[in-house]
Amino acid sequence: MFQNQLLRYARLCGRRLYSQYLTNDCRASIDTVSSPRILITGSLGQLGVEVARFFRNIYGRENVIMSDIIKPSREVCDEGPYIFADILDFKGLQEIVVTHRIDWLIHFSALLSAIGEQNVPLAIRVNIEGIHNVIELAKQYKLKLFIPSTIGAFGPESPRNPTPNVTIQRPKTIYGVSKVHAELLGEYYFHRYGLDFRCLRFPGVISSDPPGGGTTVFCIVSVFFQYRTGKFECYLRPDTRLPMMYIKDCLRALWEYMETPAEKLKRRVYNVTAMSFTPEELAAVISKHVPEIKVTYRPDSRQLIADAWPQVFDDSSAREDWSWQHQYDMDCLVTEMIKDILEHYIQNPGSIEQTFIS
Ligand code: NAD
Repeated sequence: MFQNQLLRYARLCGRRLYSQYLTNDCRASIDTVSSPRILITGSLGQLGVEVARFFRNIYGRENVIMSDIIKPSREVCDEGPYIFADILDFKGLQEIVVTHRIDWLIHFSALLSAIGEQNVPLAIRVNIEGIHNVIELAKQYKLKLFIPSTIGAFGPESPRNPTPNVTIQRPKTIYGVSKVHAELLGEYYFHRYGLDFRCLRFPGVISSDPPGGGTTVFCIVSVFFQYRTGKFECYLRPDTRLPMMYIKDCLRALWEYMETPAEKLKRRVYNVTAMSFTPEELAAVISKHVPEIKVTYRPDSRQLIADAWPQVFDDSSAREDWSWQHQYDMDCLVTEMIKDILEHYIQNPGSIEQTFIS
């Protein structure tokens, strides 16, 4: 009972309530406490799998529906509902929203920065046409819609240290252009139709799940290889500073933001971040755990992308309006990553090496 009250209170007041504080009994009963029904698109990517697990802990297993166009692992299917949803198929999406009585749409389908540059026409379809579909869907069925944006929504003309919430945005990748498009269209639908559109600009999000082809993935790759082999060839210059966030902070930011009452929000698009560091600084922290590490640097095309991105992200608006606070700094991040790598990958090393070498 007390747990349910806490949950309701958190929803009503937008107060912090961490999922680990919920007992199993509470989790089991949440289904009946008017939990939102949540659809996650592109949910087999780096963020989707983690968000589904996190939200299922809070809102109940059956209330969070994962979807994607790729075949899920058995483990994913065992964890809760999973369905096929192509973001380019508007009718198919309508059917899903109606059949599953969806209230919130967490839209993760995308082609990320490095992959998007390799296939611009496809990136335009998935990242721009896909947004047209979900935004119209959210308007029709009065869904709360979350679309993540990114530091990649800024460009070389933007101030980079720090990068404020509202400033010049002239990105030079199709990924960045599509994210600015999503931000503006979402704000327009909010003003024009009252759509409950919410967007966080995430920095590089670091988790031990394989990343989907972005530019900030050097972190996980580097922690893994340095830990395993003592060597790593980094594709960015040693002094490339980028904003970053550990996955646990990212999940909590998303959850707290979604639960913040609309009247508290002074805007619909917020920067959020936790820390900024360079590959060189990261290597120094990893060397505390793996003293024999050796990093070499050979910048590739991702360097050009990173050179146009923010170095330090100003997320003071999120901190003021809905009390955003990060918990993980670089030391905690590396400690957590090494723990994760030991638990998940050292027993099964082929899986992660194949992912990164391909
Ligand atoms: P990811 O590349 O790992 O996953 C994207 C998913 O989209 C994939 O599973 C893919 O199968 C799916 N997809 C592709 N085409 C689709 C289609 N036609 N229909 C349905 N699904 C399709 O991406 P991610 O890292 O999980 O990122 C998720 C979202 O968060 C993206 O919008 C990304 O821009 C944003 N974001 C991520 C980061 C990060 O560091 N990972 C940082 C900032 C913002």
